[in-house]
Amino acid sequence: MQDSFRHKGMRKRLVETISQKGITDKAVLGAINSIPRHFFLEKAFEEQAYEDKAFPIDELQTISQPYTVAYQTQLLGIQKRNKVLEIGTGSGYQSAVLALLGARVYTVERHELLHQKAQHMFELLGLLGIRAYHADGYKGLGEFAPFDKILVTAAAPEVPKALLQQLKIGGILVIPVGGRKGQQMLRITCVGENDFKQEVFDQFRFVPMLPGKNYRP
Ligand code: SAH
Repeated sequence: MQDSFRHKGMRKRLVETISQKGITDKAVLGAINSIPRHFFLEKAFEEQAYEDKAFPIDELQTISQPYTVAYQTQLLGIQKRNKVLEIGTGSGYQSAVLALLGARVYTVERHELLHQKAQHMFELLGLLGIRAYHADGYKGLGEFAPFDKILVTAAAPEVPKALLQQLKIGGILVIPVGGRKGQQMLRITCVGENDFKQEVFDQFRFVPMLPGKNYRP
């Protein structure tokens, strides 16, 4: 795989597009500008990799739209060395953005095939700050809790209790909550033991967060 000047040029325009849509965090825009998104997509979509769109990946899942990735990342306010749990590895693109911001990333995916492909990509790109697991995100990742930040990249019918319990005090959970037709982006801050503050942001549309693990054929 190759990251050419043409890819870099398209990426620069993508960054301009999402900054016009309201993303202001310079570090987030810098990460989008550095990561070769076309590596995370099927070859057939290479030409469109720098459009601000979601695309299909294996197992009928999607790689999120770059604007959505930037939006969620900006809400998290990632600091260097933050311990971050991501639910829904998918292509691995969002994990790469978090890693580039200096986070220590723990990412979980329920589809074994997607987990393995993303893991391979992290090795290929030398993203050593990412640990990937084939696990059910409804349970979080208790053995590594608590986390500074938790990011859910699938539509949750409600906020999973386990995720709230795995936040540090001062920690932040960003999660789209709602049904199949659309979800509200929530930012939940743990302000004390069992004490949470909730803020409501824009509407988005994610693939559903489903229970249990799925094994490759
Ligand atoms: N962050 C991804 C977006 C992938 S779409 C990216 O950048 O490409 C959401 C992903 O969440 C899908 O791959 C889906 O399989 C996964 N998912 C859904 N429910 C899950 C669960 N309970 N645990 C872990 N992953 C889940």
